[in-house]
Amino acid sequence: MDPAALKQSWNLVAAHGDQVPLYFYSTLFLAHPETRQMFPTNMAGQRDRLVGALGHIVSHVDQVDHLVGFLRELGADHRKFAVRAEHYPAVGEALLATLRHFLAERWTEDLARDWSAAYTLIAKVMTEAAQAAEAQTPPWWVAEIVAHERRAFDVAVLTVRPQYLLPFAAGQSVGVSHPAVRSWRYYSPANAPRADGTLEFHVRAAPGGAVSSRLVYGCAVGDQLHLAAPVGQRLTLWSAGSSDLLLLAAGTGWAPVKALVEQVAAEDTGRQVALYVGARSASEFYDADGIDKLAASCPWLSVTQVVAADARRPGEFTHAVDRALADADWRSRQVFVCGADAMVSHAVSTLTRAGYHESQVHHEGLGTQWYGPTWRIAQAGSVPDSSGGAR
Ligand SMILES: Cc1cc2nc3c(=O)[nH]c(=O)nc-3n(C[C@H](O)[C@H](O)[C@H](O)COP(=O)(O)OP(=O)(O)OC[C@H]3O[C@@H](n4cnc5c(N)ncnc54)[C@H](O)[C@@H]3O)c2cc1C
Repeated sequence: MDPAALKQSWNLVAAHGDQVPLYFYSTLFLAHPETRQMFPTNMAGQRDRLVGALGHIVSHVDQVDHLVGFLRELGADHRKFAVRAEHYPAVGEALLATLRHFLAERWTEDLARDWSAAYTLIAKVMTEAAQAAEAQTPPWWVAEIVAHERRAFDVAVLTVRPQYLLPFAAGQSVGVSHPAVRSWRYYSPANAPRADGTLEFHVRAAPGGAVSSRLVYGCAVGDQLHLAAPVGQRLTLWSAGSSDLLLLAAGTGWAPVKALVEQVAAEDTGRQVALYVGARSASEFYDADGIDKLAASCPWLSVTQVVAADARRPGEFTHAVDRALADADWRSRQVFVCGADAMVSHAVSTLTRAGYHESQVHHEGLGTQWYGPTWRIAQAGSVPDSSGGAR
C-alpha cells in the first residue's frame, strides 16, 4: 500500500467539497436502499462528517497504532447506527465508485488496489471491534425523560433514566439521539454515577441545531431518548492522579465539571478543588442553585462565579481563567477546562503562557463535533474547527 498516493488522491477528491458526499450517498442509497434508514432524515450535517472522518482516516493511514484505536472506537460506536457487518461492503463499493468518479483519468489500477486494500483493513478492524463490543454493552440504551426544566430561553436541564444501567465515568460524554431526529450528538452527564442510574444533561439549543433544539424545545417528561456508550477520557479524574484541582467551566461546559465535583465528593480523598464558573452575564448562570448547593456541602471546594461582561467596562471580557490566575498560582494542580471552543482555546493559551505544562491541562479538544467518537483524536490537534463551537 502506498500511503502517499492514498493521501494525494484523497486530497484531489476532497477538493470537490460538498459534491463528494453528495455523490457518495447517492451511489450508496441507489445501490443499497436498505442503508438509507441508518442515516438522519436531514443529511446536511452528515455529509461534512463523513468527509471529515474519511479525511482523518486517510491522513493517518501510515500511523497504524493511532488509526487502529480510532477505528476500533468508531466501529464499536457505529453499532448505535444499526450498522452491521454486511453493510461494510456496500459502503466500500460506494466509496470506490466516488473516488473513481472524481479522480477520472487519474484513477489507476494501482490506486484501485491500494484503496480497496485500505478499505478492507478499515472494515475488518471496525467489524471486529463492533463484535467485541457486542459482548459487553448494547448498541444503545432506551432512556425515559423523568425531568425536563427550561433554565433559560435556550438551555434545558434534563434528567433521564435508562432502562438498563449505563456505566460511565464523571467527565465522559454519551451519544444522545431523539427517535424522531435520528441523529446522534454527544452530551456530558452533569453528575457522577448515581445509585438509581439516572443521568442529568445540560443542553443549550444551537441555532438551527437538529438535536439540541429538539432536546430543549421539543421534549417532555415521559418521552424516550436513545443513549450510546460513553466516550472520552481526557476530562475524567483518571488523568489527574491524586492532585488537587483547578476547574474552569463556562456555559454548558459546567455539566462535566459538575460531574467531576460530585465525583471528588464521592471519592472523599481530601482533594482541594478550586472552581471558576464563567458566564457572559449573571443571568446566564442557569445552574446557580446547583453551584450553591455544592459550595455549601463541600468544605474542600471554593467557588468563584465570573461574569465576563462588566457593564462598567464595555467591550472588555473577563474569562474564568483570567480571574483564577489573578487570584493564585495553581501550578501544582491539575487543571480541567470545559466550555465553548473560544473559551477553551483562550484558557489553554493563557495557562501555557503562564507556565502551566500541557500535560496538566485537560480539555476535550477543539472543533470536536464533526464525527462519531473522533473528538478524542481531535485532541492531537489534527482536526480543523468546522463546528461553530461546542457548548
Ligand atoms: C464531547 C462533547 C460533549 C458535548 N457536551 C455537550 C453538553 O453537555 N451540552 C451541550 O449543550 N452541548 C454539548 N456538546 C455539543 C453537542 O454535541 C452538539 O454539537 C450541539 O448540541 C449541537 O447539535 P445540534 O444537532 O443541535 O446542531 P447541528 O444540527 O449539528 O448544527 C446546526 C448548526 O449549528 C451550528 N452549531 C452547532 N453547535 C453550535 C453551538 N454550540 N453554537 C452555535 N452554533 C452551533 C453548526 O455549525 C450548524 O451550522 C458536546 C459536544 C461534544 C463533542
